[in-house]
Amino acid sequence: MNKAPNLASKKAPNQTPNSASNRELNQAPNPAPNRELNQAPNPASKRASNQAPVNRILEHTLVDGPGNRSIVFLQGCNIGCKYCHNPETQRLCNGCGICVPQCPAGALTVQGGNVVWDAALCTKCDTCIHVCPHNSSPKVTWRTAGDVFREIDRNRPFIRGITVSGGECSLYLPFVQELFERCQAVGLSCLMDSNGTVPLWDEPVTAVCDGVMLDVKAWDETCFHRLTGGRNTIVKENLYRLSRMGKLEELRIVCLENHVDAERTIRETARLLLEEIRQKTLLKLIRFRPVGVRGELAQTPPPGLPYMERLSRLAVECGYGTVRVI
Ligand code: SF4
Ligand code: SF4
Repeated sequence: MNKAPNLASKKAPNQTPNSASNRELNQAPNPAPNRELNQAPNPASKRASNQAPVNRILEHTLVDGPGNRSIVFLQGCNIGCKYCHNPETQRLCNGCGICVPQCPAGALTVQGGNVVWDAALCTKCDTCIHVCPHNSSPKVTWRTAGDVFREIDRNRPFIRGITVSGGECSLYLPFVQELFERCQAVGLSCLMDSNGTVPLWDEPVTAVCDGVMLDVKAWDETCFHRLTGGRNTIVKENLYRLSRMGKLEELRIVCLENHVDAERTIRETARLLLEEIRQKTLLKLIRFRPVGVRGELAQTPPPGLPYMERLSRLAVECGYGTVRVI
């Protein structure tokens, strides 16, 4: 039951995990999110590697890992989930300027081809996010890991650790690594909330990451692609390898009948994990809710509670020791 998946066989023999993954991402049949990221006016390549676009930092969260934590949301994702409830975090601002005249507070200006946000003038009405046709936000600031750490450190007496989320945080691994190094040095635990499409197992960040909360999304490749525009080969490999490294903090599946193959995902992830890991890894079954969702699922109602209870029972039958429906 717990045999290693034959994932390596899907690569050419001389491929490193990283080269395979980059090709995987670049060949995704629907690479629009990647193109957006690469065409942004301030692409990551022109920034210092320890910088990342920060959408926002919440001082306290109780639902993104154990205990009270601070959470950092980074901007930009390499896939585009139809059920994403923060679609404004998916892409970097392309400087189109559409939102600028819509801002009632005059907090947005165009400077040198970029849209600049004045946090002091902003009234947080979110009009700019609602009018943006590119699933982006002008309220994003490129910040260094040291700068973000100093903000989090002010909150240190009240938190157990930090979680870095997105967007997709694994697009900014040098930033995440430096932030985690600084946080671990002062005793804060460090978690990544990731879609798993970037290979993490060989990255130095895993040495300073206490665990990954992996959003598995779907098991069937066609289902995963329909839902996200991407491919899930690397997600499965991350699941397998991170679990063997003791770096799997939590598995997440957003559940929506007729759109997500949740039953199969529960069964197959359970088959992949060693029994002891299955027992101690939290499986979070997240009931789809349309709040914040754009596009074809915006009007779709949540699945019924009996369906969620059935999934929860199935997960227990498959050997998951800790199952939470939220
Ligand atoms: S936030 Fe959206 S609408 Fe505003 S400038 Fe950027 S891409 Fe254009
Ligand atoms: S949230 Fe956006 S639109 Fe509203 S005041 Fe701030 S910058 Fe302007």
